Amino acid sequence: LTFGQLGVSKWLTTALAQISVTLPTEIQRACIPQILQGRDCIGASQTGSGKTAAFALPILQQLAEDPYGPFALVLAPTRELAFQIAEQFRILGTAISLRLSVIVGGMDMMKQAIELARRPHIIIATPGRLVDLIRSSADTVNLKRIKFLVLDECDRLLHESFSDDLAEILNIIPAKRQTLLFTATMTEEIEELNFGSTKNLKPFVY
Ligand code: AMP
Repeated sequence: LTFGQLGVSKWLTTALAQISVTLPTEIQRACIPQILQGRDCIGASQTGSGKTAAFALPILQQLAEDPYGPFALVLAPTRELAFQIAEQFRILGTAISLRLSVIVGGMDMMKQAIELARRPHIIIATPGRLVDLIRSSADTVNLKRIKFLVLDECDRLLHESFSDDLAEILNIIPAKRQTLLFTATMTEEIEELNFGSTKNLKPFVY
């Protein structure tokens, strides 16, 4: 199966070819068609399985149809992961002059507030810093039109230390959206989650 057969647009397969990615991985074969059809998705697979592209490709494809910001919010448990995700979006999204914003701790909050006010297409954040920004500049952080919520390394995001922040974020983004959960290990907690329609969703495990 090719990316094209999964429904991925030509401009994206061209971007993939430029980084020598020609065939989809298992997690990509399972998730991409589901996401393109507007469904929620839970993917359980290890780092290196191509999970970032499994959500980045369909998000970029939908974004290109109607490019406004902020369109997608990606939450990650660590700064390092947030930057890695951003890098893959950047590489795959060069053809559409993508505006990305990485919102993590340890960086200038004022600069981040200005960045968010410019309405990036994709926000990649650690939950704590995003919540700090929402609290301090609620007017500039407009997440009301978010179409996609991604929780990457969801197993780690569900730990105690993140739960209040997550609840606060879920409160202000639209309930009508697609929710995409990715995890290294499938836990009961994730299966029981009920973000929109993800409850009892059959996970793709690889
Ligand atoms: P990830 O699992 O998202 O951490 O991806 C690990 C690496 O695999 C990244 O550097 C991607 O560029 C690369 N990658 C993603 N999809 C594919 C694919 N279908 N074939 C080969 N490499 C890929």
